[in-house]
Amino acid sequence: MKGKLIVFSAPSGSGKTTVVRALLKRKKFKFEFSVSATSRNKREKEKNGIDYYFLSAADFKIKIKENAFVEWEEVYENQFYGTLHSEVERIRSNDNNVIFDIDVAGGLNIKKKYKDECLTVFIMTPSIEELEKRLKKRGTETEASLKKRISKAKYEMTFSKDFDIIIINDKLETAIEETINNVREFLTS
Ligand code: 5GP
Repeated sequence: MKGKLIVFSAPSGSGKTTVVRALLKRKKFKFEFSVSATSRNKREKEKNGIDYYFLSAADFKIKIKENAFVEWEEVYENQFYGTLHSEVERIRSNDNNVIFDIDVAGGLNIKKKYKDECLTVFIMTPSIEELEKRLKKRGTETEASLKKRISKAKYEMTFSKDFDIIIINDKLETAIEETINNVREFLTS
């Protein structure tokens, strides 16, 4: 049996990364994180090969031509992000399951390709007002970037119905438990 794929997508501020980290800690699920390639600049604390494979925009475009990507998106202008076939195959050949933390469009494209081998999970806050509250509390956004993220979140939420499961992250512990139960069921089915 080849490893299975679990895709997590969510508007920024929904707690997706925390849920993904909780799953990666459960060793019995044998998850490995799919490291994406990107052409955006590396942030100070990030490591090549751990957070992303950092490529120049030119090298990224060469890889697109070579069909090296399972999916790719220009998430922001001239900033490309994509999942490499080699990454998915590397993890599956280690007999591990693959976990993805990617945007909504990318997540749905992975589902299209891997179908029943893939579970897509959409994580959202109980309401847009709650999302706004959390983003403000996080304190990482300016008024303008907050507006951008909220309007992107509203757009992304219109795709939630296309995901296999939707987790409402009201209380974090409950959201993690609910995710674990769904993932366990999928991996053993
Ligand atoms: P950041 O620059 O903050 O790390 O990520 C920006 C956005 O790109 C996030 O929404 C993230 O989920 C998305 N992203 C990261 N990796 C991939 C990928 O491989 N494919 C796609 N389509 N989106 C990705």
